[in-house]
Amino acid sequence: MKEIEAEGFKYIYCTRSDGIPLARVVGPQRQEAESLIHGLELEGIEPFMQRQLAQSSDIRLVYVQRFFQPHIADVFYLHWDDGNNLNTLDEKVERGNFTDIDFKNSLLTVYRRIECPNCHLWWDALIVKPADSYWGDSKLFDAKIALRSSSFKSCPNCGASFRRLVAKIFKIQEK
Ligand SMILES: [Zn+2]
Repeated sequence: MKEIEAEGFKYIYCTRSDGIPLARVVGPQRQEAESLIHGLELEGIEPFMQRQLAQSSDIRLVYVQRFFQPHIADVFYLHWDDGNNLNTLDEKVERGNFTDIDFKNSLLTVYRRIECPNCHLWWDALIVKPADSYWGDSKLFDAKIALRSSSFKSCPNCGASFRRLVAKIFKIQEK
């Protein structure tokens, strides 16, 4: 994992080969695990996303340090929907020769189980948190939302809006 800055925003970026940097997992049933890396307290990774990170070609695990509690870093999933080759990006991050352009289509998301307000099916999804995602950098946030505005997802079953910004839906029904 590498601390990087892209588009003026700092991430702790985990390449696919970094895997999931967990120092210890607190019990198999826990939704959260804790980790201490680089002196930071890291929020845990949901088991569903642990599986998806190993399989998906359009997301990378990143941590973002909290603005007011910089010793804590929260989990986000950086999602691209432009087909950017993230294995190539991993190499660029390792070598330090990525550019802002590599991150232009990226969007900070979090994992949530969301319910369609119309047909009431539940979905595993990556959603955009409200405006605090980029820690007050509203210009960057607005630019990213504008760039991706036509590609936010509605319910795969009935087409209804989720009434929130959904970047990706995992079309997998897990028990
Ligand atoms: Zn629906």
